[in-house]
Amino acid sequence: MADKGRKHHRPQEGRKHRVDLRRNKQSRTRQQNLTGELLGDEESAEDVQQVERVTARGDLSRRRTLVGVESDGDQLLRTVNEVECRTGRVSSFIGLHVMVRDDQTGQEYECSIRGVLRSIARDARNVVVTGDQVLFRLEGDSSQGVIERVEPRHGVLSRGSQGREHILVANIDQILIVGSAADPDFKPQLIDRYLISAERREIRPVICINKIDLVDPRVLLPWVRSYGRAGYPVVLSSTRDGRGIQQLRGLLANRQTAISGQSGVGKSSLLNCVDANLGLETADVSDWSRKGTHTTRRARLVPLSFGGWVCDTPGIRQFELWDISLEQVEGYYVEFRPFVPYCRFQNCTHIHEDGCGIREAVAQRLISESRYHSYLRLREDDTWAWRNPARGHAKQPGR
Ligand code: GDP
Repeated sequence: MADKGRKHHRPQEGRKHRVDLRRNKQSRTRQQNLTGELLGDEESAEDVQQVERVTARGDLSRRRTLVGVESDGDQLLRTVNEVECRTGRVSSFIGLHVMVRDDQTGQEYECSIRGVLRSIARDARNVVVTGDQVLFRLEGDSSQGVIERVEPRHGVLSRGSQGREHILVANIDQILIVGSAADPDFKPQLIDRYLISAERREIRPVICINKIDLVDPRVLLPWVRSYGRAGYPVVLSSTRDGRGIQQLRGLLANRQTAISGQSGVGKSSLLNCVDANLGLETADVSDWSRKGTHTTRRARLVPLSFGGWVCDTPGIRQFELWDISLEQVEGYYVEFRPFVPYCRFQNCTHIHEDGCGIREAVAQRLISESRYHSYLRLREDDTWAWRNPARGHAKQPGR
């Protein structure tokens, strides 16, 4: 994967990009930082001098010109000597340090971030995030390193607050949505909400209904059928008797998967079953420790012994519909899409209108009733809207 990213970004001499400096940073401060960086590391200093210049255009200038920065869509990439760098993946953050796992050796290094990366980042909060594929260079006693470049991202899960995006994890291929058949009760509506969130981010969802040892699995078949009809893979599993585990392994292998779902459905137990090396804490062992803040807020990527990564973090487990308006909801019920053009009214809500293509499709069993009812409940129940952190607390209804 790293190689794929690298070959597109050859150093290009003399390319210039204008970069906005953040408002609270004066150009003077930036230069001091850069100087500090140069003094601290002679070898890298040479490299930095070769590839970048800082030009202050008077005291009021808030822009700087960086030579040796390439543009890749929405991201600016720093040109570095790739031969001298290792490739790795950001697995977690510990304090100010970024943990990077070497792609070749699997060893983890505690890394700092080359200062100039902050200048070329579009958003100061997302300079380096968990899941990033990076080029880094070893420093000091070789247990530490410096991140020199962040490769372009795909499959980003983020949260917004006050209109700003906060990326929780990058380079995710799929989201495993876990529900339980019982204890806690099966909640199809919650699964649909996660499905919509995944569709919204254009990340493939995979559904897993766990704890099937507690029910007769036949009661779940209507749901399995309706998700299957919508094109979603569904696994029925039990960590007690091992059903579904091998299938899950196949779905997770060599992919980057974020896990989401309500607390207590068995996400950690499932991951431990899928890969015995993970040793994740389950509810039995340490319910209390999950409430700790520093370890749980940030995303953590865990490598699977059979290839691939999983990201299991409360922040992601609970990611929901915060950035979707009610009108958009219908668009994320993928199996509705072919029938929407048959609605007589363009702004049809599919709730009560005559000549509604969706209701007709439900009547003809082309859309499953359970999914349609879940849609209706979601439209009626606006609680998700006021819980939405992007909307702040001001819109909470007076209840
Ligand atoms: P998480 O909060 O989703 O990570 O859930 P945990 O993995 O911590 O599991 C919550 C509880 O469900 C624990 O007591 C587990 O032992 C139990 N559990 C997990 N998987 C199963 C299963 O397949 N069947 C049954 N009966 N219990 C399970």
